[in-house]
Amino acid sequence: MSGGATGARPDGGMQGVAILGSTGSIGTTALRVLDRQRARFRVVALTAHENAALLAEQEDAWAPAYVGLVAGGGARPGWDRGAGALVRAATRDDVDVVINAIVGAAGLDATLAALESGKRVALANKETLVVAGELAAAAAARGGGEIVPVDSEHSAILQCMGDHDPSEVQRLIITASGGPFRTWDAARLATATRADALNHPTWSMGRKISIDSATLANKALEVIEAHFLFGLPYDRIEVVVHPQSVVHSMVEFVDGSVVAQLGVPSMELPVLYALTHPERVADSGVPRFDPVQASPLTFEPVRHDAFPALGHGIAAGRAGGAAPAVFNAANEQAVALFLEGRMTFGDIATRIGEALDAHGAMPGHDRASLLAADAAARAFVRERA
Ligand code: NAD
Ligand code: MG
Repeated sequence: MSGGATGARPDGGMQGVAILGSTGSIGTTALRVLDRQRARFRVVALTAHENAALLAEQEDAWAPAYVGLVAGGGARPGWDRGAGALVRAATRDDVDVVINAIVGAAGLDATLAALESGKRVALANKETLVVAGELAAAAAARGGGEIVPVDSEHSAILQCMGDHDPSEVQRLIITASGGPFRTWDAARLATATRADALNHPTWSMGRKISIDSATLANKALEVIEAHFLFGLPYDRIEVVVHPQSVVHSMVEFVDGSVVAQLGVPSMELPVLYALTHPERVADSGVPRFDPVQASPLTFEPVRHDAFPALGHGIAAGRAGGAAPAVFNAANEQAVALFLEGRMTFGDIATRIGEALDAHGAMPGHDRASLLAADAAARAFVRERA
């Protein structure tokens, strides 16, 4: 999704990077990646939600021009405060690339503002595109910004796509690890605890996306994300379970050729590629791929009956309007309640389906209507906890 900018500085100098959510799983991965790329990139802004202690350590290590802490105590003098810090960090003149590693719809305004300001957005915060894919495209077109995905599946698709036009693509095949409950039957799933759900087999991630990976709501978010990033209709986007997480996704072209991208399960490469795309740089630090060690690679169909959140999300994507925002908000609220021990694992998908029935047809033509749908869905799920 591009408004035409390349993200490169006209003077060819170092690029300034802002990290939104620098204390999280993707944020700390990004700093590890940037540590090896100091000749090309300069960290100029860091923001976090609450973790002031880690943010202070990061400030000491990186000496950014700007630090923002959205909430919580422990801020140093000189730090920016409040939710507006995200947009202020994302639109600074010395920032070329915004790594949006916030979790949830809270990252929306910063993504839109960065695109309006002509920045490259290295987007981990997939919820942004799910809530407001059309607004993001319009903001990019107006401001000249572009989105480059950090999500490993979408990074894979971007790499497989090369310079091909979407009209040459038959299908996107998005791989899913299947999560910790891939082989659990319905009776066992009904007993799944928080600890079970947080125990992902192949990826170490933040808590919210770990739960999303257990319900497969994450894959629904990714299907919608792919629809907006690559401009393909939903009947040409498929999901296949691939437990080893080595094939990160595939693109089938109209002539029947299938191109896949492979690698060890590490977010370092997709983060780096989002910074350097379309270029590739040496010294990525990513462990080298050994096909013999990675074998066997296996593929299975999705068990839609066991993981209804995936179907709800794809239906929401097809419905369009505010439905994807309702799906996302209901999921965010249900996951928060599950993590607080106030909802069972099975309730997450049930409440999402009910919220879509109640509010999925709300209007979704602008930011205000999408935020109203988001709020209605959250309230609906909270009232049923
Ligand atoms: P995380 O919970 O580990 O980190 C989230 C970061 O965002 C933290 O720095 C936190 O302080 C900040 N944050 C949270 N809520 C905020 C708010 N309301 N305002 C401002 N800052 C806020 O999450 P994560 O696993 O790093 O995931 C971040 C995003 O990347 C999510 O959208 C997730 O789906 C996506 N993603 C993550 C992975 C992964 O491997 N972790 C892979 C692909 C995509
Ligand atoms: Mg992913």
